[in-house]
Amino acid sequence: MRWRLLLLYMLMVGVAFYVVAASLINLVGNYMLDQRAQDERAISERIAITMADKLNAQDGQAIYGAAVDASREHGGRVLVLDAYGTVQADSYSLLNGTQLKHPEVVAVLGGKASANGLYKEELPGGNWLLSTFGFADDASVYGLYVSAIVSGGRTTGALVYSVSEQELYSRLLYIRRQIVYWLLGVALATLITVIFMSRIVTRPIKALSEGIEHMSVGDFSHRVIIRGHSEYAQLAAAFNMMSEKLENLDRSRGQFVSNASHELKTPLATMKILIESLIYQDAFDPAMTREFLTDIDKEIDRLNRIVSDLLTLVNIDSGGMKLSLSDVDLHELLLEQVKRLAPLARENGIELECSAKEALETSGDAVKLQQVIYNVIDNAIKYTPRGGSVQASLIRSGRRAIIRVTDTGIGIPQADLPHVFDRFYRVDKARSRATGGTGLGLSIVKQIVALHGGTITAESEEGKGSTFTIDLPLAQK
Ligand code: ADP
Repeated sequence: MRWRLLLLYMLMVGVAFYVVAASLINLVGNYMLDQRAQDERAISERIAITMADKLNAQDGQAIYGAAVDASREHGGRVLVLDAYGTVQADSYSLLNGTQLKHPEVVAVLGGKASANGLYKEELPGGNWLLSTFGFADDASVYGLYVSAIVSGGRTTGALVYSVSEQELYSRLLYIRRQIVYWLLGVALATLITVIFMSRIVTRPIKALSEGIEHMSVGDFSHRVIIRGHSEYAQLAAAFNMMSEKLENLDRSRGQFVSNASHELKTPLATMKILIESLIYQDAFDPAMTREFLTDIDKEIDRLNRIVSDLLTLVNIDSGGMKLSLSDVDLHELLLEQVKRLAPLARENGIELECSAKEALETSGDAVKLQQVIYNVIDNAIKYTPRGGSVQASLIRSGRRAIIRVTDTGIGIPQADLPHVFDRFYRVDKARSRATGGTGLGLSIVKQIVALHGGTITAESEEGKGSTFTIDLPLAQK
């Protein structure tokens, strides 16, 4: 399709070029021929005047002599005709005595002052094809200038001055040939340039469409090579960025599915062992049965937690989590959660304190924000050994509310710190599982905070404790 268009375009350009060039050469040629004709006609008329007396006197010798002289002087062939068109003298001595019937001769003898015409004498051996296109000098061109010889107001004869126009024609042919050569050269150069340019223009598009093809079959690892700073390069960079994001998304989705299956398998495997032990016990032991069933019950609780956390995450990911917004009093909310968790802290021998003085309001979903704060304080209690303390605080910083939960717990190693908000990430799997964690709590917290236009960050020193900071925008008043 592209080639056909290209050829059509080239053809159009070529035809336009040729028409312009042909018109130009015709114009120049006609002008040059006109000029030449005027000059030759003047010569012919001048010779005719000198011939009048000699023709009247019927002095054959003198007529011939004058014709030869004139022929020598002006370079053409001179023929003197009587009133009947019979050649009285031919400077080339070839046509003496013959009658000329050229239309120009007839017109002049019939009363016209002068007439002229161009004659072409075909030369043998001309190349038909080339001559058709005007390339070859396969003809000898000559002009015939006929002037009346007048005596006493009467046309007594005609003077035929025949001169070769071959040189002029050859020159015109030469110019035309040059133009055609140039035309072909320019067409060829244009063709090469267009092909070259179209390659340059289409190459990045081709590369991009290849990339898209890879992507359509699920291969996100393909990257487009970027050259230069053109719009295409920007497009390719954007494409590569998109591929990378999709690749990461694809990878994390795969990881998520495998992590989730693994998490679900663990309690199932534990339950299977417990149930099998009950089935195959030798003698029914009520105490052991109760203990095993209690463990199975715990595993079911765990499964429930994992599934509901997973559902929450899927809900957030698919954009299905809708916040029911209202002005939430963060001060009250924080105090409530501290109160809810106080028994757990007491049970674990941990001192839980809250220093929130200022009443700060944010526009948010009260239930979801409760979940956030509960989770963070719950974590602080879970990961703090007996005798430690957990501090929750709320302060204002400009147009933001800052909630900080600091503990004197086990802390998080620096290498793990950037990952604590990742799904299923747990520093110490055994400990997390022992405390009933799913490894999804903080990732849900982070998503909810982000939905509220806030951020959550963690700082920690291993063995000394951790601080989680939640930053939320204050309600616009
Ligand atoms: P989990 O259900 O395991 O608590 P989270 O997503 O709430 O999962 O937390 C992820 C991991 O971050 C935890 O397993 C734990 O290793 C670490 N972590 C969270 N909070 C604290 C904290 N206050 N002190 C120490 N480690 C923490």
